[in-house]
Amino acid sequence: MLYPAEKIDVSRCHGCGLCAMVCPVYQQGGNVMRTPHGLAKASQRDPELVREDVFACVLCGACAPLCPQDIDLMQMLIAMRSAFSHEPLPAGEQGKSADQKGRVVFVADRALLADEEQLDKVMDLLGHEKAVLASDQGDDISEAMQSGRQVNFDRLHQFLTTLQPVKKIIISDGLLQSVIRSKLPQISMQSLGQLLSSQQAFRRKLKASDFYMMDSQSYHADYQNMLAYYDALYCETECQLSRDLHRLAIPTGAHAKNGFDSKAQIDWLLQGRKVKRIVVESLADYHLLTKHCEQPVSYISELLP
Ligand code: SF4
Ligand code: SF4
Repeated sequence: MLYPAEKIDVSRCHGCGLCAMVCPVYQQGGNVMRTPHGLAKASQRDPELVREDVFACVLCGACAPLCPQDIDLMQMLIAMRSAFSHEPLPAGEQGKSADQKGRVVFVADRALLADEEQLDKVMDLLGHEKAVLASDQGDDISEAMQSGRQVNFDRLHQFLTTLQPVKKIIISDGLLQSVIRSKLPQISMQSLGQLLSSQQAFRRKLKASDFYMMDSQSYHADYQNMLAYYDALYCETECQLSRDLHRLAIPTGAHAKNGFDSKAQIDWLLQGRKVKRIVVESLADYHLLTKHCEQPVSYISELLP
């Protein structure tokens, strides 16, 4: 994942429309031009045609596991956005890799890095893994991918170099998770949501009346494993999961840039459900849900002692 836009072969799209079927942006607006199908077809004619539509995508990743042509759709969407940016990501300061050799490191998402109290709580919970905060969080790279700025490939290389000697990565940033998984497949990696929700103390507190909001980017970054993992979580706790009929994770739109109605998305997500509490894996989702929902919302760490 992460190549310049011109290296992505959009001509492989044969227009099956599977990506549109699960795209929340398409479900809201009905505009096929804002789906990978429409974007791939338009850019085959003239890449300029996708300039506005590509920023409607909320980067939830739901389309990525479905493409029968095996086009890396997240890569395609990120590269298309950055192709219109004239603001490249500056080379950042390289973190030290020596101190991380053989360690378990935690790469936090930007919302968590901005919340010192929650970050401290999460680091305490990762104590049993003897995890340390990664020396380079790569949050500037994540921000660039999210916002559509050009990613500086030297900077990306710096970031990945610091992670090469580690034993295991725990991560709460789903976009960076996709990148690291594709570039450093030999390193064991687990999402923060999976790690915390696998603890028995957590599972004992999760009830059938809870709505468990998965982080869609993390879920789709490791789709096959996550399918089985969340099936098991459901069987054990009977909690309600934020999955659709295709067993893809439904996003809130917390990362929306352009025109996505998050309030309508959340209303639709909870429509017809009997929910006493919402438990979320992503702090960005937590902020959005507390703004729009009547039910109490708990960040995943709050269910653990
Ligand atoms: S799923 Fe893949 S092949 Fe099918 S329309 Fe979407 S991008 Fe094209
Ligand atoms: S990442 Fe999500 S919002 Fe973007 S095109 Fe794919 S399904 Fe639609």
